[in-house]
Amino acid sequence: MMMLTSNTPANYSTKRLKGKARFSLLMKVYFPYDRVRAEQQEFVKDTAAAVREKKIFLAHAPTGLGKTVSTLAPALSYAIENDKKVFFLTPKISQHEIVLETAKLMNSRFGLDIRAIDLVGRRQMCVDPFLSNASFSVGFYEACNKKKKDKLCKYYTNTKGYTPNQKAEATRNKRGLIHSYNHHYSFIKEQCALHELCPYELTVEMIKNAHLIIGDYSHIFHDDIREGILNANGAKIKLEDIVLVVDEAHNLPERIRDMLSTRIDFSTIEKAQKEAKNIGDFEVEEIVKDLGKELMNLGKKLTLETSEAKIDEKDIQFFKKIGGEELTKVEEASEKFMAKHKTENCFLSSIIEFIYTLLKQKQHTLYMIERKGSLTIGVYPLDPSEAARTVLTQVHSAVMMSGTLLPLEMYSDVLGINKLNSEEKKEIISAEKIIANQKDELLHNTKQKVILKQYKSPFPRENRLNLFVDSTTTKYTSRSNEQYKLIAESVDKIIAKVPGNTIVFFPSFELMHNISTMLRTRRQILKQEREMSQDQKTKLIHNFKLLGSSFGGVLLAVSGGSIAEGIDFPGDNLSCAIIVGVPFGRMNTYTNSLISFYQFKFNKGWEYAYNAPAISKAVQAAGRVIRTETDKGVCVFLDERFGELRFKNYYPRDFEYKKTNTPEKDVEEFFGKK
Ligand code: SF4
Repeated sequence: MMMLTSNTPANYSTKRLKGKARFSLLMKVYFPYDRVRAEQQEFVKDTAAAVREKKIFLAHAPTGLGKTVSTLAPALSYAIENDKKVFFLTPKISQHEIVLETAKLMNSRFGLDIRAIDLVGRRQMCVDPFLSNASFSVGFYEACNKKKKDKLCKYYTNTKGYTPNQKAEATRNKRGLIHSYNHHYSFIKEQCALHELCPYELTVEMIKNAHLIIGDYSHIFHDDIREGILNANGAKIKLEDIVLVVDEAHNLPERIRDMLSTRIDFSTIEKAQKEAKNIGDFEVEEIVKDLGKELMNLGKKLTLETSEAKIDEKDIQFFKKIGGEELTKVEEASEKFMAKHKTENCFLSSIIEFIYTLLKQKQHTLYMIERKGSLTIGVYPLDPSEAARTVLTQVHSAVMMSGTLLPLEMYSDVLGINKLNSEEKKEIISAEKIIANQKDELLHNTKQKVILKQYKSPFPRENRLNLFVDSTTTKYTSRSNEQYKLIAESVDKIIAKVPGNTIVFFPSFELMHNISTMLRTRRQILKQEREMSQDQKTKLIHNFKLLGSSFGGVLLAVSGGSIAEGIDFPGDNLSCAIIVGVPFGRMNTYTNSLISFYQFKFNKGWEYAYNAPAISKAVQAAGRVIRTETDKGVCVFLDERFGELRFKNYYPRDFEYKKTNTPEKDVEEFFGKK
């Protein structure tokens, strides 16, 4: 462990750091903890250099490196001194709290005045009694926008105002809250409800004077949302003034694809048609009816045996054509219907949303006709690189980190930043001169705009045992009751030797079901279900953790699901993870299209769309076992394919494993060691 002074900013100087770790960062880093591990120090140092030198930094940073503080401290330290803002983006709201608490800790340790805001979506923030309680699948944003446009939301009026008098009143209304930085969003929401203000509008207004905005990927990577946020209240924040940190960045490509995708089904179209009829708008009724006919026509591409089929872009032209005058007519009809029925949402607005998203599609989009209850048209963009590149090339600097960001080159390719290094030659020369003059010892190549780096796990190697077992497989062609029985027997034997809790991760619910019926363990078995509410999941995890302190229980879950990612099981909460089968994605039209796309673009279709994500899911699930320095545990990879050479680069470089066909003996021996 290395010591950093806690009552002064940690100024990484050659004096304080000796030997190999000797370097000068040329900036102060407000690191709020007394102790820093060697690996963590390296990460802090690299992040600081990347931020200062306007890099895009992709970091594979395993658990234990303290990713939040290691990136937040240097990013904020730089931002405060250089009049920038830090946007710290996470895939889940539950991950905001630790970022907020770290910023607060920096404030209290160094007497700083970092102003942080906890930004969540408009929908979570809404306090309008009707909209906040209605169950929208789509249409919330349209309903909110309509209320604002029609001046019907008193919370909005009280926060923003329409007339000069209302605006002045709004300024007075907000006075007590507009400087309420460093609070959890629920506090702002409560306070706004009390004062009849819109929490979302208030929070977005606070961005202008904030140093740190903790938000979701969509706040920056979705063009429309970003525009709204950066320009709220005349803030006109430029991307170049943003220091971006993206947590759990392995999720970013898929999240961008999701943000840009859309679908509509026949039943929605039918209901929209009835709405048009209801208000006597026969022209719109015809427009919508024709959409329905077109959808039915496309449905002919499906056979009795197939539930999905790819359609050509030209097949969707009919829907795109609605984008002009006709769409305006549908919009008017939708407003008329909602006004007549005093409702905030309608099916006509779902059509508008679908067409708008459809019109924004760029090339490399998969169009599909699907049978999902009702006949559906799905629009799925395959290439997240344009949206990612727009942001990453304009922000001041970006730190993209994750405990499973391998292979790093793949993320650089997929996010469209792979060619930046060769494009940045001019900038390189000047940067090189500066660095040469200062004789700075940077760990990375300063010539590069994009830095890729893999860090070692800081936890003691002897605390973890990875076992590769090749006596079973869930390979499609080998699936049989005999195979499932072998797997179940192996799982039973391993569980029996674990002095605590075990999670068994399966590639799918279907396999979980087939194999779990053959398990004979006497330990209590809990199961993740396909559809679980947040409350049910929390209860399941709570009950499972309790078993860890008694005889140990078994939790059956799926790789790639919510239990496999983002939930910590420290200490005796979890002693063993068994990964049954390589969790490849389902081979369907979408996966096939993604494979073809990456084959076409990088000649790495299977690698990028199929193999690497599967190993990443397995490693992510296995990563639940060791969450702290003192945790001790075993990860068993139960499939002959895990050890194949073609997957080698998808595992961390310091990943060590033992091949065995008697994992139960290894598990017993491992836990038997004192
Ligand atoms: S303006 Fe705010 S309070 Fe009003 S509906 Fe929209 S999100 Fe809800």
